[in-house]
Amino acid sequence: MPTAYDVDREQLAVLLSGEPAYRVQQVWDGLYRRVVWPEAMTELPARLRADLGEWLPAALQPSVERSADGGDTVKWLWGLHDGALIETVLMRYPDRATVCVSTQAGCAMACQFCATGQGGFRRHLSVGEIVEQVARAVAAARPRRLSNVVLMGMGEPLANFDRVWPAVLRLVRDMGISARHVTVSTVGVVPGIRRLAGTGVPVNLAVSLHAANDERRDQLVPINRRYPLNTLVDACAEYVHRTSRRLSFEWALIADVNDGAADAVELAAIARPLGAHVNLIPLNPTPGYPVRGSQPDVVRGFRDRLLRLGVNATIRSTRGVEIDAACGQLAARGGSGTAGAGGRYENTGAGGESGDADAAGRHGAAVTRRGPGTRPSLSVSAALPVAAITGNPQQEHRLGEQDLVP
Ligand code: SF4
Repeated sequence: MPTAYDVDREQLAVLLSGEPAYRVQQVWDGLYRRVVWPEAMTELPARLRADLGEWLPAALQPSVERSADGGDTVKWLWGLHDGALIETVLMRYPDRATVCVSTQAGCAMACQFCATGQGGFRRHLSVGEIVEQVARAVAAARPRRLSNVVLMGMGEPLANFDRVWPAVLRLVRDMGISARHVTVSTVGVVPGIRRLAGTGVPVNLAVSLHAANDERRDQLVPINRRYPLNTLVDACAEYVHRTSRRLSFEWALIADVNDGAADAVELAAIARPLGAHVNLIPLNPTPGYPVRGSQPDVVRGFRDRLLRLGVNATIRSTRGVEIDAACGQLAARGGSGTAGAGGRYENTGAGGESGDADAAGRHGAAVTRRGPGTRPSLSVSAALPVAAITGNPQQEHRLGEQDLVP
C-alpha cells in the first residue's frame, strides 16, 4: 500500500475521485504546505479525514528517539513496514533547522569504515519514505523553519536516483524548500553525478572523498575501483560547470591512514582546481574498522596545510561516539545502543566553523522506546526524556558548511 508521501497528485486524484475536485489541492496542501496528517486537516469532512487516515498511512514507525542539547538535536530510528530500520537526524538552531535523511535501508557501497556499509544493503527507500523523514522534521522543528535538507544519512543517494530525485522535487516544488538548501551526497557514483548535473535543479553536491590517490581510495571506498579518481573528478567538474553550485569534499581523517602532509597535498591538487570546499571530520570508530580518528592537533595541522595550499577547509565536529551516534550505528544495533555522554570534538576557528558544532551533545544520554502500533505523529513527544546525545551521521556523511547556511 502506498503511504501518505508516496502517492503523487494523480494517485491522490484517483483516491478522491468521489469528492469535489478541489479536495485534491486541499489534501496536497495539507501534506506538503501545512505538513499535517489527514486527521488534522479540519477543513475536510470528518468522514473523509477518517478515510484518508486509512488510505494514506505513515511509512515511518517511531522506534527510538534520542535527543541532546535540550532537544535541539534529535536522532530518530524508524521502523519500516518490512522491519527495516533507518535513521534521521534533526538539528535545530535558533531560527531554523536542518535535517539529514536516509535514502536506503543499509548500503551496498561497503565503505571500509562505515557502520551502515558494514551491515550490508537491504533495499532502496521509496519516495514516500524519504519525503516523510523531511515532513517529520518540519513538524518537529516548529516553530523554526526547516531550511536545509541533506541527503547524507544511511545509504548512497545516487544509487537510488530514481526515487531520490522525485523525492527532492517534491521537497523543492511542493514543500517549498529551496534547491540551494538541499545537498545530495555521494561516495562517487559517477553516472549519478552526471544525471544530477543534467537535472537543471541547483542542489548542492557533497562528495565523500577520503583519499586522493586511487590505491588508498580503492581500499577505503570500494566504488573507486569502478569509478576511479580521474572519472570522478571529471564528473565533479561537469557538475560545477553546469550548475554553478559549490562542490564540497568530505574527508574522514583516520590516524596514520590519510592525515599526513602528502595526503593534504594530493587532496589540494584535486580540490583547488574545482574550487571545492573541504570538510574534515575525525573518524568515528566503528566495530568493523577499529582504527582511530586523527588527534585534534593533527586535524588542525591538516586543515592549516590545506589552507596554505589554497583550499578552503573546515573542521567538522564528531558527536556521540559512545552511543552509536554515527550513521548506521544505531540501526546496526537495532536501536539498542547504550546510553552515555556525547563525544565531542573541539572545533577550531581558523578554517571557519559551522553551526553544526554548536548542536553537538554535551549531556548524558537516554533512550526512549515506543511500542509497536503507536499512532504515528508528525510531532515529537514533549514527554520524551531530553538530555540525550544524538549524533551527526557518520564521518563522510556529514553536513557540509554550505548545508548549514540559512
Ligand atoms: S559511507 Fe555512505 S556510501 Fe559508504 S557504506 Fe556508508 S552509507 Fe554507504
